[in-house]
Amino acid sequence: MPPDPLTLAEAYRCEHRPGQGTIDAVPELPEVEALAADLRERGVGRVIERADVAEFSVLKTYDPPLTALAGATIVSAGRHGKFLDLGIRPASGGPELHLITHLARAGWLRWREDLPTAPPRPGKGPLAFRLRFDDGSGFDLTEAGTRKRLAVYLVTDPAAVPGVAALGPDPLDPEFTAQTLAGILAGRRTQIKGVLRDQKLIGGIGNAYSDEVLHAARMSPFRLASSLSEEEVAELHDVIVTTLRDAIARAEGLAAGDLKKEKKAGLRVHARTGEACPECGDTIREVSFADSALQYCATCQTGGKPLADRRMSRLLK
Ligand SMILES: [Zn+2]
Repeated sequence: MPPDPLTLAEAYRCEHRPGQGTIDAVPELPEVEALAADLRERGVGRVIERADVAEFSVLKTYDPPLTALAGATIVSAGRHGKFLDLGIRPASGGPELHLITHLARAGWLRWREDLPTAPPRPGKGPLAFRLRFDDGSGFDLTEAGTRKRLAVYLVTDPAAVPGVAALGPDPLDPEFTAQTLAGILAGRRTQIKGVLRDQKLIGGIGNAYSDEVLHAARMSPFRLASSLSEEEVAELHDVIVTTLRDAIARAEGLAAGDLKKEKKAGLRVHARTGEACPECGDTIREVSFADSALQYCATCQTGGKPLADRRMSRLLK
């Protein structure tokens, strides 16, 4: 059954940080892909000493237990949408395990060559989860703020993670063709912005890259998905793939710590309200919602006509 179409406000609710505007380096497909590449390089072949949870709410599974990781070897690092997936061969020789992480909007992974030997103390700090290898290296999953949205799952089958099982096609999968995109958009009377970032329809694109894709496609974020012509769908497909591939290329070879900076530098309209559009020089505008915002260029995307901003209209009443 297809998921209910998200309204824009609903779609954005997950990524807003009150009082911090829209400047966000929320990990999306390119950053998670780069983290996976970094972990393939550094992590595969290492043997786990132990896993520690510093914030209990982040661990979403209990069977198998985290102690099953002791002595296990990392055999792969990959991605499903915005979920990071470490393939792990347990010491017991049982079925392969998957340590799956969703970094949510403010979570991050920090690789460390020299982790403290003492287990972390649960508390108010940013640390949520720690994986320590037998050579003393490892990584921390961190998230600022008291309420952790970051999620960790230990499963034998990635599809046991509900968010993974529900993912739409991956836009970088060779099977994601213009035809596939046409099928997703057909008959969908919702705004294209919300469709692009609905993980159940297409896996991996969030608020930032949907702004970037729509700007590159010169398309209004409010266009109805079902109203796109065949040529527009083909063009949009091309732009989605190019935008994500370019972002991955920029992130390639960067350590986890440099990815956020690179993402911000690489964005052309997202989180750039008030700056000049790099294509035409017009001022980049924003549409605010109760808990988020999108950015766009009126000259490039909406025939020069600014989109209604509900928050502004409310203030002017
Ligand atoms: Zn422009």
